[in-house]
Amino acid sequence: MKVGFCGSCRRLILSDFSYCPYCGAETRRGPELAESVEAPFARIEKKVLKIVVTERIDELESQLATMELELESILEAQGSGD
Ligand SMILES: [Zn+2]
Repeated sequence: MKVGFCGSCRRLILSDFSYCPYCGAETRRGPELAESVEAPFARIEKKVLKIVVTERIDELESQLATMELELESILEAQGSGD
């Protein structure tokens, strides 16, 4: 069940309504509730995503550093035999 806002009186009404039960105005599709709460949510999601990605990069960087050290020791071992 979708809800939206009356374009005339801005009251919360069902999107299925053709006319606003409060003011009787024809309900042109105004911003639906999902859309009006989506914007701030999207902003929060982006922020959280940024934090998660940053943490993931830190994790990968430390793994990469460990791999580099391991690779160096392997190359050193191989280099001595040549
Ligand atoms: Zn209305």
